Amino acid sequence: MAIEKILIANRGEIALRIHRAAHEMGIKTVAVHSTADADAMHVRLADEAICIGPPAASDSYLNIPAIISAAEISHADAIHPGYGFLSENAQFAEIVESHDIKWIGPKPEHIRTMGDKVEAKRSAGALGLPLVPGSDGAIEDVAEAKAIARDIGYPVIIKAASGGGGRGMKVVNSEGELETQMMQAGSEAKAAFGDATVYLEKYLGNPRHIEFQIFGDGNGNAVHLGERDCSLQRRHQKVLEEAPSPILSAAERDRMGGICAKAMADMGYRGAGTIEFLWENGEFYFIEMNTRLQVEHPVTEMITGLDLVREQIRVADGKPLSFRQEDVTFTGHAVECRINAEDPVNFTPSPGTVTWYHPPGGLYVRVDSGLYHGYKVPPYYDSMIAKLIVYGATREGCLMRLRRALGEFVIDGMKTTIPLHQKLLEDPDFQNGNYTIKWLEEWLAREAS
Ligand code: ADP
Repeated sequence: MAIEKILIANRGEIALRIHRAAHEMGIKTVAVHSTADADAMHVRLADEAICIGPPAASDSYLNIPAIISAAEISHADAIHPGYGFLSENAQFAEIVESHDIKWIGPKPEHIRTMGDKVEAKRSAGALGLPLVPGSDGAIEDVAEAKAIARDIGYPVIIKAASGGGGRGMKVVNSEGELETQMMQAGSEAKAAFGDATVYLEKYLGNPRHIEFQIFGDGNGNAVHLGERDCSLQRRHQKVLEEAPSPILSAAERDRMGGICAKAMADMGYRGAGTIEFLWENGEFYFIEMNTRLQVEHPVTEMITGLDLVREQIRVADGKPLSFRQEDVTFTGHAVECRINAEDPVNFTPSPGTVTWYHPPGGLYVRVDSGLYHGYKVPPYYDSMIAKLIVYGATREGCLMRLRRALGEFVIDGMKTTIPLHQKLLEDPDFQNGNYTIKWLEEWLAREAS
């Protein structure tokens, strides 16, 4: 039976994004929401809505029994988890499938493998992806760590196997710091993720973050949809993303994309995924794989003309990919600005009520957001309130259009990071695509002084 009704186990802009793709395919949607989100746009637009708990995400958007009950009551035949929340929870994926509900996501075993960074690195290596030099798996004792660090050279980085969201990482500059940093990393990882396992790798001095979008049909066919450059980060969190990367040649894209697609084909990967690399001096180093749709997927959609959510739904329905590698073309340039309800200088959260809302429009301007006039942004969730995605035939044209679009964007009633993006656009280094993962924080420090 083809999918007729999708329960969207998420909120905000991504819930809307999924709803839109579903409706364009003639599929009905069920929104689930916390009591804090009763007035949210995703709830208003869905065909049905079910309240699944109080504001705290642990009691609502992470509440597996409540979500499964909602799917059963509404007779949803598929669940899309969006990103964050339960999207990379292998156990949830298994529970969904065991209830005869289609899981719009990768196979649970692949979610599990890639969710453990030590396992992920091991599989990536076995699949032929280039790795950051480091420990072969988890490290337990300091002597072993010292030996590896001496071998690869300082600085090194200690990372939590269960880490995520840019947390659980410690840079170690010399052998003298190694023992204390390792102990601290372990106990912090235990407190934050319930797992003290850590591993060690070379700390790259000044890399770019470049990730490849891949898609598999679950039956051994996989394609890549090019890369995104997500080097503009603050505290390891992405701020602005673009596709293609300003530094990658078409030949390099084909070569690296081909390696990624082959790895995913060999794995039998199903659905959308992202393989993240650090890039330095012309070399790629695998850091992790995300087994879900990414926040920044729209820039890929803009340059390929493909609807990634539609493709996810098709694959979950057992259909083949609607395109082959040779059908995928990359045209023009796209940039996404993440707009957060935050002070643009010190980044303190600034939730509030929208007293005036005017999103930008015009050719090649896309706004993914659940905001509307009078909407009260709840303080309980992520501070991202909108994504502005702009396309241009060239990078230069794209940036001109982005400047114009940011200038039109009005969100009154709270502070937002729109002014930050406007300032960023005026920087010559950014304009030239001349930046690495360290660049934004250094730029912010200069701007603040
Ligand atoms: P998370 O899952 O928490 O996002 P990642 O492994 O994807 O963790 O790393 C997040 C960011 O941390 C990267 O984009 C990069 O900025 C930095 N980072 C991670 N590993 C290294 C490394 N070996 N050298 C330098 N920076 C790193």
